[in-house]
Amino acid sequence: MKCPYCRFEDSKVIDSRDADNKKRRRRECLSCGRRFTTYESIELIPLMVKKSDGTYQPYSREKLFNGLMVATKKRPIPLERLNTIVDELEDKFANSMQGQVTTAEIGTSVLEVLKKLDTVSYVRFASVYKDFDTTKRFVELISELTE
Ligand SMILES: [Zn+2]
Repeated sequence: MKCPYCRFEDSKVIDSRDADNKKRRRRECLSCGRRFTTYESIELIPLMVKKSDGTYQPYSREKLFNGLMVATKKRPIPLERLNTIVDELEDKFANSMQGQVTTAEIGTSVLEVLKKLDTVSYVRFASVYKDFDTTKRFVELISELTE
């Protein structure tokens, strides 16, 4: 999405909402910092999620959002922030993984975000994250955090 002012190729999404089968996005240019709005058609082909047992299911925004809600429960993180996180993750999945994403990739991406955002939420999410390969890895993670 090119910046209409300086033609720079990269921008960040600062707000996103649905409007009549279009996604309205407020973007901020990463070069000149000016803001602009884009309207993008909502993808007709649903993103598919590949589970660890090899089966697929349609990507569910609600599921991802609920996962974040559980992890950030009673933490000082506003709902809008969670919405933005989900938007950014969806952008990432849509851009980098052609039509499909694995549960492991989703989990890892969420962990990356939470690690920077809030340690308590991060550990909570990690502990319920089913594809987190072994307990050993979880123990390593906790020790990383307490170092
Ligand atoms: Zn620009």
